[in-house]
Amino acid sequence: MNFTRREFGGLAAAGMLSRLTPAAEAQQEGRVIGYGIVGLGRISMQHFMPSLKMSKRARVTALVSGHREKAEKMAAEYGVPGNSIYSYADYERIADNQNVDAVYIALPNSMHAEYTIRAAKAGKHVLCEKPMATTVADSRNMIEACRSAGKKLMIAYRCQYEPTNLHAIQLIRDGKLGKIQAIESAHGFNIQPKEWRLDRKLAGGGPLMDVGVYSLNACRYLTGEEPNSMKAVASVIDHDGRFEEVEENLAWSMTFPSGIVASCNTTYGANMPGFYRVHGSKGMLHVEPAFAYEGLHLSAQMQGEPPIDEPNPEHDPIQFQREAEHLADCIVHNRQPKTAGEEGLRDMQLMMSLYESCGRI
Ligand code: NAD
Repeated sequence: MNFTRREFGGLAAAGMLSRLTPAAEAQQEGRVIGYGIVGLGRISMQHFMPSLKMSKRARVTALVSGHREKAEKMAAEYGVPGNSIYSYADYERIADNQNVDAVYIALPNSMHAEYTIRAAKAGKHVLCEKPMATTVADSRNMIEACRSAGKKLMIAYRCQYEPTNLHAIQLIRDGKLGKIQAIESAHGFNIQPKEWRLDRKLAGGGPLMDVGVYSLNACRYLTGEEPNSMKAVASVIDHDGRFEEVEENLAWSMTFPSGIVASCNTTYGANMPGFYRVHGSKGMLHVEPAFAYEGLHLSAQMQGEPPIDEPNPEHDPIQFQREAEHLADCIVHNRQPKTAGEEGLRDMQLMMSLYESCGRI
């Protein structure tokens, strides 16, 4: 029995794959998922698209861009036909492109919601960059649009698919650090002027939305708990025109139901390599860098255990390949992504509480 891609999609959506013959299941297993790339900027061109060159499970099949010339250059590099290049205005035509199963959205934050909802209406699954959106309402609308279209929505939290972060989580879950008491984390960089990231309408906020979200998300996946209280303070030190609309520095503390306390910092005013330290009654672990594209490093000292000093030899862009393939597997096997829309929504709600707590909204 041979199935077309469309028939497979229908069967998967209807939850009928378990009724396929072994031969049809094998055909489905080997299926390559086509991604339409929405937004040709740094993250898509330098990381996500190159990762698909290495993948046997996913490939680039369409491009959506406001710059035709740039798109044609990328299309030539990735073997994308000219009729699979779309502008933002004619994005809906992607509905007719049977080679596109999913879109990868790598636009400024405030555009994520519109392009996710339009993709779902066009019948495509969505892998959306973090932060999911710029408001809680937009995040909910994205989840609802994908749910009612029967399409997957995954937020690109690459650290949740990456072995160094997964090892840190495992050590904590296995009790190797004893009772966790405290977490420290930070992430920031010194931003150039004129970036869209400094425009509140496009970015939704400052470093918290952009890079602080890594520390927030890490505190949640490391503890496996949701914070039950949080407090933030924010400041602007450099009155040089960059921080008219968004914060320069934001520091916050959180407590979790078990009593774990966390303190985090984020900035657009200094290069602050992303890291976390987790302190438990029987030891501590330190991951630095923790959120970079490569070069991650875990070290740990634990009572009664040999110390761990574990550099991660993987190179960029493998983290992006992993997330692209995770969604591909979810599409093929009709599973919910590990970092579905609800995960992005939770961070969005917490970031809004932090902004409220320091008077930034
Ligand atoms: P970028 O500025 O390099 O690219 C943005 C793209 O959006 C460009 O192609 C630009 O032409 C297009 N665009 C369309 N309308 C625009 C407008 N009105 N203003 C500005 N650009 C517009 O940005 P980036 O660093 O690639 O970030 C894109 C998204 O990816 C953001 O949501 C960011 O948070 C996320 N990101 C994720 C990671 C990660 O590791 N997961 C890393 C960097 C960025």
